[in-house]
Amino acid sequence: MGVLTQIALGVLAISFMTFVAFFGRLPALRHTPIAWMHRAIWVSIPSAILAIDQRLTSGRLTTSLGRFGTYVMYGRHPTVLIFFLLLLSVGEYMYLPGVWPRLGVVHKFFGTLSVVLPYLFLYLAAHGDPGVVDAASHARYMSHYPYDFALFHPGQACRTCGLLKPPRSKHCSVCGRCVHKMDHHCVFINNCVGYGNQHWFIMLLLSTASLTLYGGVLGLGAVADAARARDPAFALWKPAGWSWRDYVVLLTAGVQDDVGVGSVTLLALMTSPLVWGLLAYHVYLVYSGTTTNESMKWQDWQLEMDDGCAFRRALPSDRARDPVREAPWTRWPVDAVQVLVRTEDGTPPPASAGVGVGEWERVWRLSDVENLYDLGFWDNLVDVFVPNHPFRQAAEVANADLERGKRRAKKASKAPRASSLVAAAT
Ligand SMILES: [Zn+2]
Ligand SMILES: [Zn+2]
Repeated sequence: MGVLTQIALGVLAISFMTFVAFFGRLPALRHTPIAWMHRAIWVSIPSAILAIDQRLTSGRLTTSLGRFGTYVMYGRHPTVLIFFLLLLSVGEYMYLPGVWPRLGVVHKFFGTLSVVLPYLFLYLAAHGDPGVVDAASHARYMSHYPYDFALFHPGQACRTCGLLKPPRSKHCSVCGRCVHKMDHHCVFINNCVGYGNQHWFIMLLLSTASLTLYGGVLGLGAVADAARARDPAFALWKPAGWSWRDYVVLLTAGVQDDVGVGSVTLLALMTSPLVWGLLAYHVYLVYSGTTTNESMKWQDWQLEMDDGCAFRRALPSDRARDPVREAPWTRWPVDAVQVLVRTEDGTPPPASAGVGVGEWERVWRLSDVENLYDLGFWDNLVDVFVPNHPFRQAAEVANADLERGKRRAKKASKAPRASSLVAAAT
């Protein structure tokens, strides 16, 4: 096996294991070999190493390794960001001199864009405010979304920051601050991904995915030309009648013709599916009106539902808001119509417990529960890309309250008539 083939296989294996490590716990992959490998990476292998280390060094090696791992993954420092920047710039330094002179005006234009945009979006995502909840922003963030009474309940304060948690916010333990619409803390940008920078983060994924694919495809053209210089019959799609051996030999020769272009092309093509996968995952989150943090909370609810411990009941749309614990109005066009609770033993909570009206009903499936933060793909996209978009104005809310008031008056005027009918009949 040639050195380049070994490098290519190595990069492929690393890309695959990274995919397994990051996505192995997605519900769609449950009960598949990928989920088992994910468990092996995060649970079985670490505990086996721990057991061996306990025997050999009384756990000293794993303690220091653990400290290093925690430092890299959970510390607030730019190590991974610098690694990412180096990967980008060293790759471009090795790749561009060999490919640039071959490009026409159109490719030079799009090539320049593809190279520049990831740096720009990386700067904006890493440097921007992810939506830190502090005294100045608290009132605004409280009025962004209503509490859904499933994942987020009014009246919960952050133990560290001391502020009431706005709906959809979460405390980032790495940065030590609450972040509005927190998605996750990202080591690549050394920042949280939240309400303030989620659009920059998605643009960073899109531009990096495009860069790897575009660079990979252009690089492949250069590799094919180099191979064709040795044998004009060469084509990237193995020509009929060629043996695999001849094809691989010539392709390898094409890669080796300019090692910079060849190796970066291979790296770009192999990491590209990973970046596109990450982008697809985040577009899927937007499509479902959720975040990484919330999707994990929904997974916990699914487990409660599987055990028969989740119950819901209606929340009246004209319920009085608690002015101390909730914003008087939100810009969100819909309000919670259900409350979701869990019980320890699977028996329904007493009728007098908690908020809401009517009987508690057991829920078995997530699809039977409404996600208040999903307005449909287009509006979800607007919510991500247009900061503070007013989905409804305060005036509309006042009108809606007026309408509701009228409706209630109508209902109230109906009720006595009905009861008088009943009275007349008996
Ligand atoms: Zn906090
Ligand atoms: Zn953070």
